[in-house]
Amino acid sequence: MNLDRGLWIDHEEVSAQGRERLAVMNPYSQAQWGTVAVADAADVDRAVASAQRCFDTAWSTTSGYQRGRLLNRLADLLDAQAERFAELETRNNGKLYKETLVQVRFAARSYRYYAGYADKIHGEYLPLDNPQMVDFTVYRPFGVVALITPWNSPMTILSNKLAPALAAGNCAVIKPSEFAPITTLEFAMLFKEAGFPAGVVNVVTGAGDTGAALVAHPKVRKVSFTGGNLGGRKVMEGAAVRQVPVTLELGGKSPNIVFADADIPRAVNGAIAGIFAAGGQTCIAGSRLLVQRPVYVQMVEELGRRAALIRQGDPMQPDTQLGPVANAPQHTRILGVIEKTRSGGARMVAGPGGAGQQVPERGLFVPATVFADVRNDMDIARHEVFGPVLAVLPFDDEDEAIRIANDSEFGLAGGIWTQNIARAHRVASRLECGNVWINTYRMGAVQAPFGGRKGSGFGRERGSEGLRAYLTVQNVMVNTAETDDDPFSIRT
Ligand code: NDP
Repeated sequence: MNLDRGLWIDHEEVSAQGRERLAVMNPYSQAQWGTVAVADAADVDRAVASAQRCFDTAWSTTSGYQRGRLLNRLADLLDAQAERFAELETRNNGKLYKETLVQVRFAARSYRYYAGYADKIHGEYLPLDNPQMVDFTVYRPFGVVALITPWNSPMTILSNKLAPALAAGNCAVIKPSEFAPITTLEFAMLFKEAGFPAGVVNVVTGAGDTGAALVAHPKVRKVSFTGGNLGGRKVMEGAAVRQVPVTLELGGKSPNIVFADADIPRAVNGAIAGIFAAGGQTCIAGSRLLVQRPVYVQMVEELGRRAALIRQGDPMQPDTQLGPVANAPQHTRILGVIEKTRSGGARMVAGPGGAGQQVPERGLFVPATVFADVRNDMDIARHEVFGPVLAVLPFDDEDEAIRIANDSEFGLAGGIWTQNIARAHRVASRLECGNVWINTYRMGAVQAPFGGRKGSGFGRERGSEGLRAYLTVQNVMVNTAETDDDPFSIRT
């Protein structure tokens, strides 16, 4: 298979101005299986112009009911081809097929969820002090929105943004990651098939300047970005120049806290799901496991044993538990972090070269790695690894757990394992993070708002909050008085 894709603009695949092509790699086979175009500022301008034209001539006057019907039709098409999209996603980022299949179905569910909202977006009538003034609010779309998505979960993360953006009446230009652009380009074609107007969704690929050109475009009225903190800062700087609103969903170093009164076998499963599912390449990875001392030794031993047993291999095979990491720069970086942590004082209880570890001969594999006796001031506890690397830290009591948990520049997610319901709520209320799980980890739902605090970004995706992110409130005040009052008096 060798897919060569252009840009997707105005419902058509078009060539970019420049001839440069980016190779699309399979992190398991390490073979190239496609190429994509590099969009320059002129290409970005074409894409934004198409979106603006669609907004002005079609989408902004399409009824909410009709927008919802089209989104449901899109979801039908996506569901019908879920296996194909999951396979493409796995080929592109190495994530397990069984997980990408769930993610594609989750994406379809998101389009259906927001389809239901499309004809229920309304403001309110506001009774003012002055009875001669009629006042009401209207929720308006921004116009053209820029959506910049990463390589770890392209279809799901795109749906978090695109489904509410379209339901709200915006048109979009998407910039997928250069490492995993294929599913987004293929998905864009479904909009034509579903009967959306041309230009409602456009896709520009590239690496280097494409994202910056998109954020800088004067017709882009809102930007949403998911990715690393450095990328997020650049996006925000670009948007600040034009005072454009931004949603940032960035990294994390999320604390997963296990109290001694927890159901320990379930907590072990939760810790494993939190860090090794998706190869730890997820912003919500429970990468700092805080364990209360009475169960610390027991948990570390069990985690080391279980980590060494994790089956790595072909991400398409149903019995594989850990696929390759998504791309070569990540692979090099993660192995470097492991090496540095090993020589920096933490105790490796599972990882490269560990007993029982079997690493496939080919593919960008990183063995499931567990470091015990980590202190919160160590690099491994402070920086996002974005790989299958767990740092385990002991704590004595609730206050210490909360102090360690919050002692981080990040604030995306946190987990609490306890059978004491009062403690569960007490700790949740003190965690400085956007998402808390109690006796579970890494569960997501289209209805539940998702996003970070502190260095993990701001704004929320999913749920009703996710819709509000793509709407701007307009207040309309109507004077029903028959005569004007004094123009120099205070008007209330
Ligand atoms: P980033 O996540 O930082 O972002 C890359 C994207 O940002 C590209 O699409 C790029 O487009 C765009 N971009 C870069 N500069 C600008 C700019 N000035 N204005 C607008 N867009 C811009 O890069 P990586 O994919 O390399 O990931 C780096 C790290 O991020 C990972 O190691 C991981 O730790 C973390 N990460 C976090 C994720 C999350 O879910 N929160 C997901 C993926 C990664 P272009 O090249 O065209 O400019």
